[in-house]
Amino acid sequence: MTDLSRIGAKLQGLCGWQCSRRRFIQAGASALALLSWPVSTRAASVEARLGFIRPHPAQFYRPLEGGLVQCQLCPRTCEVLDGDRGECGVRENRKGNYFSLVYGNPCAVHVDPVEKKPLFHVLPGSGSFSIATAGCNLHCKFCQNWEISQARPEKTYNFDLPPEKVVDLARETNCASIAYTYVEPIIFYEYMTDVSRLAKKAGIINVCHSAGYIREKPLEALCDVLGAACVDLKSFEADFYRELVGAELEPVLNSLKTLRRRGVHLEIVNLVIPQMNDKPESITRMCAWIKDELGPLTPLHFSRFYPLYKMLQHFPTPVSTLEKARDLALKAGLKYVYIGNVPGNPAESTNCHACGKLIIPRQGYMVGEVKMKDGACAHCGAKIPGIWSKPQAA
Ligand code: SF4
Repeated sequence: MTDLSRIGAKLQGLCGWQCSRRRFIQAGASALALLSWPVSTRAASVEARLGFIRPHPAQFYRPLEGGLVQCQLCPRTCEVLDGDRGECGVRENRKGNYFSLVYGNPCAVHVDPVEKKPLFHVLPGSGSFSIATAGCNLHCKFCQNWEISQARPEKTYNFDLPPEKVVDLARETNCASIAYTYVEPIIFYEYMTDVSRLAKKAGIINVCHSAGYIREKPLEALCDVLGAACVDLKSFEADFYRELVGAELEPVLNSLKTLRRRGVHLEIVNLVIPQMNDKPESITRMCAWIKDELGPLTPLHFSRFYPLYKMLQHFPTPVSTLEKARDLALKAGLKYVYIGNVPGNPAESTNCHACGKLIIPRQGYMVGEVKMKDGACAHCGAKIPGIWSKPQAA
């Protein structure tokens, strides 16, 4: 790890969710913040309380015999006994009725640069009001946010933030988007979609960082309100998903196709872990699939792994491995291929796919002068995929 990235990782840890889990802290939020800042607003007095929960009726489940319910939200389709919870730990069967335990109770609230999601083709340099609750439907051994993703909501400090308040705060902090992020946002589906409906009416873009582990019907409904998604495609190997994620690959590929078909702006993140998912043949197959199924202009981010959670014995990804992966992706025909978690790498910037000229310079989360006009390259006029202007409020 370089000194710069070590400092960056440390600051992110301090300025990230740990800082804000008890209360909003006066910290001077800036839409162009270099790192993640806790939210500083008129709501500075809002306290988070340990284990604050307000059950809310869940969607997408069906009652079974004997008081069981079957959750229909993600491909796990958990069958849940009365008084019990699904695998994600935040959806509970109460006498045959099913409840979300995290509606309106985020435990992480920040203003992030949209580049941190990472979304490089959505209003560069804008702020993204970012929320997450406790829980996750995956159990990645390399999770960056395992303190909240693998926790039940009784164990986290949760804010009381109904959907209207989230949208108000996003406006107050001058954010162009609201991001559902840090954990798998599917598990706070009802909250995410209610916030999203209000945000869309207010002209705020909804963006979601997801692992794509969701069933078709709820995803279709989510697409009605979602502007952009960055989806982790963690590997192109089913075994990797089973062993390191505790899930299946196929539903993720289906979700990617649905997002593309529905016209949601899509970017893909592949965290490259040395000796686990860095085989050139596998990366080449993944890139060919992306090109064929999602299109050559789909942005792909190869992200650097740092040892975390249950993978502390592994080394960080060598930068040369990421550069090789990028070369393979370009060779496979993808046009927007980025390297992430390596501040200062030239592959953080965007070059036009048609003329090759620099149109969005970046360094870390800092964005330089954008050379685009009306969603097109200012040099050659080629249309660049993404969201480049703020939508109108309804
Ligand atoms: S969302 Fe949670 S409860 Fe529902 S199927 Fe997935 S893991 Fe199980």
